[in-house]
Amino acid sequence: MKPPVPMQQLSHCLKELDGQSFERYQKLAGKSYHHQDYRVRFAHIQGSPGAFPASVCRLSLKTADLGLPAACFVNDVRMMAAADYLLRVFGNAVQRHARRNRGAQGSGSFQPLVLPPQVLKRNVIAFRPPEVDIAFRISLPGSGENRILGGQAAQMFQLELPAIVQDLKASVACNGPLKNHCDVVEDMVDLQQRLGQYGLAAFIGDGAVLPRRSGLSQAPMQEGAVRFQAPADMAVQVVLPNAGRVRGLGIRPGVNVVIGGGFHGKSTLLDALAKGVYPHIAGDGREQVVTHGEAFFISAEEGRAVNGLDISPFIGDLPGGQDPQWFCTRNASGSTSEAAAIIEAVLAGARLLLIDEDSSATNFLIKDHHMRRLLPEDPITPLFDRVQELYRSCGVSTLIVVGGSSDYLGVAEHVIAMRNYKPVSMTGHVRRLGLPKPPTPAKPLSISEKRCVRPGNFNPVYHVRRLGKTIPVRIKPLRRHEKLLEYGNTQIDLTQLAALVDPHQVLTLGHALLTAGSRFDQSMLSPSALARALSALIDNEGLESLDSGGSAPLFLASARRLELAAAINRLRNLKVVKADR
Ligand code: ADP
Ligand code: MG
Repeated sequence: MKPPVPMQQLSHCLKELDGQSFERYQKLAGKSYHHQDYRVRFAHIQGSPGAFPASVCRLSLKTADLGLPAACFVNDVRMMAAADYLLRVFGNAVQRHARRNRGAQGSGSFQPLVLPPQVLKRNVIAFRPPEVDIAFRISLPGSGENRILGGQAAQMFQLELPAIVQDLKASVACNGPLKNHCDVVEDMVDLQQRLGQYGLAAFIGDGAVLPRRSGLSQAPMQEGAVRFQAPADMAVQVVLPNAGRVRGLGIRPGVNVVIGGGFHGKSTLLDALAKGVYPHIAGDGREQVVTHGEAFFISAEEGRAVNGLDISPFIGDLPGGQDPQWFCTRNASGSTSEAAAIIEAVLAGARLLLIDEDSSATNFLIKDHHMRRLLPEDPITPLFDRVQELYRSCGVSTLIVVGGSSDYLGVAEHVIAMRNYKPVSMTGHVRRLGLPKPPTPAKPLSISEKRCVRPGNFNPVYHVRRLGKTIPVRIKPLRRHEKLLEYGNTQIDLTQLAALVDPHQVLTLGHALLTAGSRFDQSMLSPSALARALSALIDNEGLESLDSGGSAPLFLASARRLELAAAINRLRNLKVVKADR
């Protein structure tokens, strides 16, 4: 690394570059400049004013200068929370102090991360005592003629960045909000780890605000939001390290059914639980919604591919003689896709399935007795017939939202009705109805992986004959559909993964697949074992272990083993072979 030179020299250099060809910015690559309070290093320089992603700088500050209290470093969770806090302050400071779009094509802008209300582990901040490093994107200013706007660039580093750093210091100095941010995150993670001790699969604190401002916003609803209040007979008390004793709804392991009229808040509750696998920032309204870390939202995904999966627990003999124990399709139906989603999730370690009738295949959820008689050839064993068995023999709980059929009430251990956005316990009432149980399926439930991933699956390099060109590694979420991952010449559709809350997680999944190719290519693991291996690698070596050192540093956010498995399973051309056992 080149030794840092004083910041004045950067301004000087930028002014000198003014009017020169944009590529001359490359002169800065790898260089460091120091200010009395911090250092800036140019880790990556963009090729043109409109380049996406833009340039990357690393800002290094002394934790002591920043004034970060020791309480931020007492454990990994508080460190993750403090890092998240600094990134949010950085983003707000940019809004306050920096001009935008001063050059062509949006160049001449700091590009802070747009963070979701969930707090995730990220690689953009690293605490390396005695320093903290914050990576940020910056689009260096250029003109429409591809010339450097040196004076503008100098302003960004001479005036705006120091003001941003001052805001970081000021926000740390008034310790209250930082401490509160860390406390809230620590409470959530602590409760998540101890849910089992309380005999719970999920918890929703009284006073939580579950609805969002709109279908497009993750901000809490403000006017008219009905705060969550647990009914007395489902209320539990938990003790959190910072907030102390908190009352709320305890969702138990087993089969939980949520009923209620249309528009009474059922899907909102389910979505809050799906996101409750992560901590939320203070003020989000869902800070005390805490879901088992291995909860997974299941839905139908018509048209997806399935490769060599044993879906026989739910699907019997298929027309055309397809073997349901080795189910392959490039175009799954609603029911087969949902069966596949459950089996894949269970194999990957899911412990709580979250299911909403709104996004499910009805014929996979239920089958009434007339249909059972009329269509004996129907290959589907609906989830209704297996849901209790899933818990009893595999330990996998379910929380299912059904408003249109009473069937699931016959197998429910716990029933919650949503009435005018308020939960009401209906378990006792429903039990007294003595509703019918499902027929016992012909074969006991057995979920097993009989396939392994063949070598050569994850190579994203491809050749375009028309252009006579080989396209090197190309992995990125699509700009307007951030849950569609472009991976080489294919796209992986992750739109149904409710626990993907940030495109940086999608990027992580893409680079995890690339790492699967580089590190585990010959290992012949099953998709779920491969996801486990990748997850262990990230846990042990950090998210950086996925960055293979391409031209620009990657901005990554943690993804769970369940999403890793889901991404592998959604690779349309995943090639698998039968495991020899
Ligand atoms: P359901 O699934 O029962 O049909 P939804 O969960 O989709 O209902 O909610 C219907 C509407 O009510 C949505 O616009 C949602 O934002 C709003 N909503 C949900 N929960 C609340 C609440 N606690 N307070 C106010 N509005 C809510
Ligand atoms: Mg709904």
